[in-house]
Amino acid sequence: MDTNARLYQDLDRILLTRDQIQEAVKKLGEKITRDYEGKKPVLIGILRGAVVFFADLVREIDLPLEMEFMAISSYGSSTKSSGVVRIVKDLDRDITGKDVLVVEDIVDSGLTLSHLKQVLETRNAASVSIVTLLDKPARRKVPLEVQYSCFSIPDAFVVGYGLDYDEKYRNLPDIGVLHPRIYTDED
Ligand code: 5GP
Repeated sequence: MDTNARLYQDLDRILLTRDQIQEAVKKLGEKITRDYEGKKPVLIGILRGAVVFFADLVREIDLPLEMEFMAISSYGSSTKSSGVVRIVKDLDRDITGKDVLVVEDIVDSGLTLSHLKQVLETRNAASVSIVTLLDKPARRKVPLEVQYSCFSIPDAFVVGYGLDYDEKYRNLPDIGVLHPRIYTDED
């Protein structure tokens, strides 16, 4: 709590500690290593929220793999996505015939990923699977199959470990629920 003490003051509570996250990411990396044995998957990190998770996850996967990044902008407010997705940064390489793992920070309504999955499926990948650190199943608006998820969390707005509010808090090592006074103060 020491290094980011000022940022921690904006949290209502800590939901997941760095130790819990590290353990879950390690287990997930081991599972992906087993499931993709003999393959060379392409991991697509979704900028910017998934960057911290992505960097930790790839180091827990004991396979040859490729790293790619996409940036998407979803029209909507800062705390809710509309599902209308625009690709801001596309892949640099062709994914035809590749086993793709889309690495996201959090699945909320599912709108962003279900749209992105459709886009990637038109590009003739051998397979497209979804990996997320956090899942809020209670908030789902569209059906979405999530193959790998570290934590199911309640319906609360969380920050830290890559997740932001207004570009802040991404560098918190733990994940916490943002205090509601932060939204009201900044409105
Ligand atoms: P979806 O399209 O599934 O509703 O939204 C997914 C995106 O919404 C995530 O990639 C993330 O950018 C944002 N999001 C959803 N819930 C949260 C949350 O609790 N905290 C933060 N920081 N972003 C969230």
